[in-house]
Amino acid sequence: MPSFLEARELVLSRVPRLPPEDVSALEAVGRVLASDVATPIDFPRFDNSAMDGWALRAADATEPTTLPVVGRVNAGAPGSAPLSPRTAVRIMTGAPIPAGADTVVPLEDAEERAGTLHLSRAPRSGAHLRRRGDDIAAGAVALRAGTVLGAAEVSFLASVARPTVPVHRRPRVAVVSTGDELVEPGAPLGPGKISDSNGYAVAAAVAQAGGVPLRLGIARDEVEALRALLADGLRADMLITTAGVSMGDRDLVRKVLGELGVENVFSSVEVKPGHPTAFGVRGATAVLSLPGNPVSTLMMLEQLVRPALLRMQGYERVLRPLVPAVLDEPLSHRAGRVTFARVKLERRDGVLRARSAGKQETSFLRPLLEADGIALLPPERGDAPAGITVPVQVFRPDDDPGGGSDRTR
Ligand code: AMP
Ligand code: MG
Repeated sequence: MPSFLEARELVLSRVPRLPPEDVSALEAVGRVLASDVATPIDFPRFDNSAMDGWALRAADATEPTTLPVVGRVNAGAPGSAPLSPRTAVRIMTGAPIPAGADTVVPLEDAEERAGTLHLSRAPRSGAHLRRRGDDIAAGAVALRAGTVLGAAEVSFLASVARPTVPVHRRPRVAVVSTGDELVEPGAPLGPGKISDSNGYAVAAAVAQAGGVPLRLGIARDEVEALRALLADGLRADMLITTAGVSMGDRDLVRKVLGELGVENVFSSVEVKPGHPTAFGVRGATAVLSLPGNPVSTLMMLEQLVRPALLRMQGYERVLRPLVPAVLDEPLSHRAGRVTFARVKLERRDGVLRARSAGKQETSFLRPLLEADGIALLPPERGDAPAGITVPVQVFRPDDDPGGGSDRTR
């Protein structure tokens, strides 16, 4: 049975990086560029003024002087007549520099009276001029494959008039909940029935990780029903099932997946919660069979599914940063596996401190709802005493002004 880190590595190494699709520059934000993007045109595209002021020849103003102002060039002007020697034109920021002019004098550095420009000192030749291609010359690679596109990258794409850009495709993720006790959330709950919360949890986590969830519904604990839904799900980039993977005689998911040709990579992981998580592949489809307990499902979505979906979309950094925190109280834990402890966090005297967010039971959701993060209790030792430092995955990083826009659990 793989350790947590081995299992995560197995999943990451077996999922494919999805091929590119062209999307509009606006839709590309947050996605990963699939190939280098070179600049099709010079940027800036033409010599233009960096200031509101006057364009002139520096050679005409090597000492205090006056020049007649013979015209005006606004931003957006198609161009203007070449500048005659010993004249100046009014020019606006972003307006094309007339041929012959080589210098811009800002409004605040000179004075125009009755059509004459009065310069009390010589401007620096070439000042306040943005030269064609100075920022990024045509043909230069400005964005590298693997870049996560943010506002600056989108600005660049818009600047050089690239309407679309190739980014790794979003994974399509089939979601199948299994269990005779499940009903669709919102439908009447008969005796002994519960809502299929896992189906929603999986869909939510997939969407948060950039994937496209396809809820195929609930399969009864019965081979035929399972076979139909799982076969359908295997056409997606990833198939995620919940429940039916422990040792009960109604736990048929792995058996049916095997019959459908899924190669089993592992059938359990040394973690708690989430131990009976299985991973397999068929062709290009990754199959994650998660346990039924909602907290176990949520932990595995965070620990295995999210990194896998990010990797499929080309992200290099697929793991959340780990923040060290000091345990305020002992946490029970068995050596040999990683425990994902739901913890409350508090910063005292500059030190981040963690305590249990409630009962660490896999059937208890409330502690997870109240938690600020997940402490990873390492496999090397059993029960974690108060005072030791443990790595924590923080739901709301201190420096996130959005206050949890990236909160996944
Ligand atoms: P199982 O793995 O089928 O033994 O299920 C373990 C536990 O998870 C049982 O208490 C199930 O009722 C519960 N469970 C299974 N599937 C879901 C689901 N889709 N939503 C909520 N709870 C579930
Ligand atoms: Mg069951």
